[in-house]
Amino acid sequence: MKNWKENVRRVVPYVPGEQPKDTNIIKLNTNENPYPPSPFVLKAINSLGNESNRRYPDPTSDKLVKALADFHGVGSDRVFVGVGSDDVLGMIFMTFFNSEKDVLFADVTYSFYPVWCEMLRINYREIPLDDDFKIRKEDYMVENGGIVIANPNAPTGIIMNKNDLIDIIEANSDSIVVVDEAYIDFAREGQSCLDLLDKYDNLIVVRTFSKSRSLAGLRIGYAISSAEIIKLINDVKYSYNSYTMNSLQIEGGSASVSDNDYFRSMIKKVVETRERTTKELEALGFEVLPSSTNFIFAKHNKISGTEIFEYLKDNKIYVRHFNQERIMDYLRITIGTDEEMDSLIRSIKVLLDKKADI
Ligand SMILES: *Cc1c(COP(=O)(O)O)cnc(C)c1O
Repeated sequence: MKNWKENVRRVVPYVPGEQPKDTNIIKLNTNENPYPPSPFVLKAINSLGNESNRRYPDPTSDKLVKALADFHGVGSDRVFVGVGSDDVLGMIFMTFFNSEKDVLFADVTYSFYPVWCEMLRINYREIPLDDDFKIRKEDYMVENGGIVIANPNAPTGIIMNKNDLIDIIEANSDSIVVVDEAYIDFAREGQSCLDLLDKYDNLIVVRTFSKSRSLAGLRIGYAISSAEIIKLINDVKYSYNSYTMNSLQIEGGSASVSDNDYFRSMIKKVVETRERTTKELEALGFEVLPSSTNFIFAKHNKISGTEIFEYLKDNKIYVRHFNQERIMDYLRITIGTDEEMDSLIRSIKVLLDKKADI
């Protein structure tokens, strides 16, 4: 007798940051934006009638695709939308990573990449970042079945030199190069790869509404590439689940894109708080990696990452700690409001004082 258990597609799932039920905490562990989304979003969602619940949503999400295409100055046939960039990246892996050769990404990067590879039986190789947690472009100039680069990288927060990234894209004209720009809105201007799309037909840029647009709960992500590549992703998507985007996402997402002033001002606030918090943590003995994101990756010169993590958690401040070699002593701290960061700093000072007494 065959045992069905032998035929299970066994996977070790991605572990998202905790979403505690306790609302009386300071939550700096999943890189959510501390500020609300544009007021246009709720207005658009509230104006949806019950009819939109009865009917299927627009399978091509035309309104949202058009809003994004106009925002980025590309044709609508060059935009793919999905249920968060996780869905978009998953579809891209499914569509393009289908060779005997290894797909390449960093050893310290978004930990969902190896999970999709395992799940979809994609060969892959994790390439160590250098001692400064930077990507060495030479490492990506070898035979491969595709390349994925989070830029800025997570959880390090470090952005690549754009010319190095261009060198990687150029050296790999026979491969698909995916640049995951989940945090690019928090970086200096001019660092995005979007302006390279017209020059390189092997490039896919992926973005999300979860961080800079404060819409992690709505689940919207997108990819921009050539019309040819977008069509190939859509062919796979429609072979799997045609109604990924619901009416709330389509209406709310389009409304967010239409409110650019609000978007810019919230990003500015987060970046200012990031710069200030970095200085304060450094003054307390932390080494803080240079961040181009809405989080900072920091390590104390005396106290272990685990100890600070546990202490903060006991004091109802949640940050992210990875039990992974190389980054064990680091904490990934999402930039919250100024008040939240003040509480964090105060709490760390109390811990340091306690340690000093021993
Ligand atoms: C947050 C994040 C994503 C996924 O975001 P979604 O909420 O699924 O849009 C993708 N890549 C990186 C590097 C991220 O940090």
